[in-house]
Amino acid sequence: MYYTKDTILYLNGKFIKAVDAHTDLYSQTLHYGFGVFEGIRAYQSMNGVKIFKAFEHYERLRRSCALVNIPFPYETEELIQITYQLLRKNNLTDAYIRPLVYCGPNMQLTTPKDIFLMISAWEWGKYHGDKLLKLCVSSYQRPNPNSLQLEAKVTGHYVNSILATSEAKVRGFDEALMLDMHGHVAEAPGANFFMEKNGVLYTPSTGHILPGITRQTVMNICRELDIPVIEKTITLEELEGADSAFLCGTAAEITGIESIDAKPFRKLWFESLGATVQEAYKCQVLEKSFSYVII
Ligand code: PMP
Repeated sequence: MYYTKDTILYLNGKFIKAVDAHTDLYSQTLHYGFGVFEGIRAYQSMNGVKIFKAFEHYERLRRSCALVNIPFPYETEELIQITYQLLRKNNLTDAYIRPLVYCGPNMQLTTPKDIFLMISAWEWGKYHGDKLLKLCVSSYQRPNPNSLQLEAKVTGHYVNSILATSEAKVRGFDEALMLDMHGHVAEAPGANFFMEKNGVLYTPSTGHILPGITRQTVMNICRELDIPVIEKTITLEELEGADSAFLCGTAAEITGIESIDAKPFRKLWFESLGATVQEAYKCQVLEKSFSYVII
């Protein structure tokens, strides 16, 4: 359930009830997947309700629009304030926030003029991150970056993610790991990938992935904790030799990977670098001091 009869959302300058909101069935976004969105989290932190990396997410929304030529006439600070208001109006503390920029009626393949901004939010449980994932290498590759603006969070790109996730679940796995068009490790359908080898974390370079805000947060945490991180092309052979691995994303937070294609990693999760990063990330979103995890 994403909303009830009382839920309020923000639509083009107004707060209205979700049940009273309508979209045009001739929307270009509905027909062709041409829209952009964000996925943001709010946490009940030590200092009250905090939207984690709100600025970064709304700036990415703006950049996504710019990359695909969707007009975006909003100020980031204004959107952050609107989102805090939205959380208050819905009495939400631990929440998932979904801004969506969608286009008006246009059955042509031309750049839209009419755009709409919807911001919705729903309750999302507190930080867990305990469960380890069983991944499989997907038969679906990430799209060719010369075909799409892969760094933009465009609605239509998620057909690729849905196909990969569905395939993984049908095959009995929790999640997919997608390769890029060259057969190198890229990312999960909705999260970025890190692996540990000999005390170093490796993550695929940008180009074939969505450069996640959590991925950047992980790299910042590693700098603070003196954990070396290398962005590089990762082959399947290198993946086989890894000691541990994890996914990261706004929704996934830091989630350890138990196995890939039923091959477990040699390190136990709680002894891995990922577990240290996970603890630090949790402290950061909850605005707790994480000095005790410094190694
Ligand atoms: N890759 C993809 C394809 C995603 O959809 C997401 C979720 N937005 C991520 C990575 C992680 O990005 P972030 O950390 O900004 O949530």
